[in-house]
Amino acid sequence: MTSPGVVIVGAGQSAAIAAQALREKGYRGSITMIGRERYRPYERPPLSKAVLTAAEEPRLEVLSEDVWTHSDIELLSNNEAVALDLPRRQVRLANGRVLDYEKCLIATGGDARKLSLPPAADGSVHYIRTLDDARRLRASLLAKPQIAVLGGGFLGLEIANSALSSGASVTVIERAATLLDRFLPSEASAWLEAWMRNAGTKLLLAASLNEVHVLSSGRMRLSTNAGELELDELVVAIGLSPNDSLASGAGLEIAAGGGILVDSSCRTSNEHVFACGDCTSQRRSGDTAPTRLESWQNANEQARIAAAAMLGAPLPMPAVPWFWTDQGRHNIQVLGLPAADLEYVRRGDPSSDRVMWIGHRDGVPLHGVAINAGSDLRAIRPIFERGQPVQWEDFPLEKTNLRAWVKQMHAQASPTV
Ligand SMILES: Cc1cc2nc3c(=O)[nH]c(=O)nc-3n(C[C@H](O)[C@H](O)[C@H](O)COP(=O)(O)OP(=O)(O)OC[C@H]3O[C@@H](n4cnc5c(N)ncnc54)[C@H](O)[C@@H]3O)c2cc1C
Repeated sequence: MTSPGVVIVGAGQSAAIAAQALREKGYRGSITMIGRERYRPYERPPLSKAVLTAAEEPRLEVLSEDVWTHSDIELLSNNEAVALDLPRRQVRLANGRVLDYEKCLIATGGDARKLSLPPAADGSVHYIRTLDDARRLRASLLAKPQIAVLGGGFLGLEIANSALSSGASVTVIERAATLLDRFLPSEASAWLEAWMRNAGTKLLLAASLNEVHVLSSGRMRLSTNAGELELDELVVAIGLSPNDSLASGAGLEIAAGGGILVDSSCRTSNEHVFACGDCTSQRRSGDTAPTRLESWQNANEQARIAAAAMLGAPLPMPAVPWFWTDQGRHNIQVLGLPAADLEYVRRGDPSSDRVMWIGHRDGVPLHGVAINAGSDLRAIRPIFERGQPVQWEDFPLEKTNLRAWVKQMHAQASPTV
């Protein structure tokens, strides 16, 4: 009898990379991928960038045509998995079909968090999670409308900058008093705020939305604690809800803050079920609190770890978390994770629009933020990976070659005898 193989629920970034990794590692059993959307797995980062601004839609497919032709991955698109039966090792689809599995991988991502709004506003309210969402917003931007973006997180700000460059007039409504204050050192946040205001975005900070009225003209009037504004389109970017209901319905453990709880090998609380990507909350090592990372790198990395774990192969080394965002013409990269007690050193000058901050605790770098200085952050990555304490007084603050400095630090940390 042939083995029932691997069933992957979800057909996004993480699902695609996991399927590819299974084949690359020599897995020859069946791989069936179930996707709620009508597309093959596609890259989401361009949805808030080039898909809104470029003259032509960029290519978005995660896997090349060649991989689809030669890898024997069965994709059941336009299909939703509605139940997982752990004792029988079966996945049930909305169309009634039941699939047996040897191993199941849940890669269901997340949905945009919704706001309760008057139904009459539906036609002018946008959430950006899928390609269809982004295409709809792009079509609306052609009229160069007045828009408001509710939520000044990375995604909301990307959408605001893209809309501005498409000719829309843009207001961002953000609850916090400073931009991205949980993720960026205060100088970086101040730089971003100044740049966005200068570029023409109206930023309402420490602001909250009280009410939305749909006017007889079809436009909306928003009342906020910072005043009223009228607009044509509202984009809501207030975060993501992990798609963990299939897992919770089956009795798999869910982390306190949401997300399917997985261990460092991406295994759930059931030995035959794994999970990866935005739907997870991962205990990265032993006793640490579970972390939810919603990033392209995390989706790829967990996919490769889950594929190896399902096959009982050695696990790839976990990478230091890395994230990028493009805010208008500026590229911001973040390495590691922020914490309240870090001390920051800065290389470069924010006024030059090329600058990097390193946040450290007792000399050990834990958080790096680079504005248009991704190559500097890449150069310094080995020090993050080694968790090496550094004398930051000696850090080259200007143009000196960083790679040479990193080499020197490495030599000091491991002197030859
Ligand atoms: C607009 C946008 C911009 C982004 N920009 C960046 C960026 O600049 N940098 C960065 O690092 N990250 C960025 N990200 C985040 C990154 O794209 C995600 O972290 C990544 O896509 C997560 O991959 P995933 O496979 O976990 O989830 P997804 O890519 O969301 O895939 C999950 C898929 O599963 C499907 N699904 C869900 N439930 C079911 C079910 N029951 N049955 C069948 N199918 C199901 C969903 O429909 C979806 O297609 C961005 C995300 C968005 C939305």
